[in-house]
Amino acid sequence: MMTLQIHPIPAFRDNYIWIIHNNTHAVIVDPGDASPVIDYLQFNQLQLQAILITHHHSDHTGGNTLLLDRFDVPIYGPKQETISTVSHPVQEDETVHIPTLSLALEVIEIPGHTRGHIAYFGSLQGHQERNILFCGDTLFACGCGRIFEGTPQQMYQSLQKLADLPEDTLVYCTHEYTLANIAFARTVEPNNIDLEKREHCTKQLRSENTPTLPTSIAIEKACNPFLRCHQPEIIKTTSQYAGKMLNEPIAVFTALREWKNNF
Ligand code: ZN
Ligand code: FE
Repeated sequence: MMTLQIHPIPAFRDNYIWIIHNNTHAVIVDPGDASPVIDYLQFNQLQLQAILITHHHSDHTGGNTLLLDRFDVPIYGPKQETISTVSHPVQEDETVHIPTLSLALEVIEIPGHTRGHIAYFGSLQGHQERNILFCGDTLFACGCGRIFEGTPQQMYQSLQKLADLPEDTLVYCTHEYTLANIAFARTVEPNNIDLEKREHCTKQLRSENTPTLPTSIAIEKACNPFLRCHQPEIIKTTSQYAGKMLNEPIAVFTALREWKNNF
């Protein structure tokens, strides 16, 4: 029985490059930097099989060229974006197969942060089946990415798409933003008990320099204000911020994102 492991390789100030491996073969997601990946592969004697890219930003793709110099591997990435190092452009409903890891990841298009942003969703077989999601800079623990290229409508729909995945799905985001996101979420929804508990746990983890990821779809539905635009308390506080009554969830979402930008 082959068990897959998923680990974060820290990069830059707060990025995580995720590695999926079975002690022999490995896949990496969003290598913004090559050197920590090369070190990790060498130290653990792993053979790189493929690189997965969620969107074109350099903190997610910057390591591609150096990694390609060393390893002859396919690079999967969004068809809707121009990334020179991507050899295998993929789009919605396509599946990335990594035979050596018995891994199949489905591509989900989630535009908003960038125009062509994609996520990879799959399940790990084993004694306990686990659903996994690599969502780049779209869904964060207790937050969401900035809207650089898409519209608030697109971002809202993309987040809804992720929220509709199975609740037990483990969510591997690309940045350690959880603590700052919780501070904002607490301001938006001060009476959310789950959030209060999560702040406590998160502070503990960060004081030990432990990653707060993965999170899960269930946890995000309970705590993430960007997935809770229908909650009365969030409608109230966000309406106060906007200075007018916001009725539609999309209007709440748009104002909430703007509030976070200025927080
Ligand atoms: Zn980004
Ligand atoms: Fe990023």
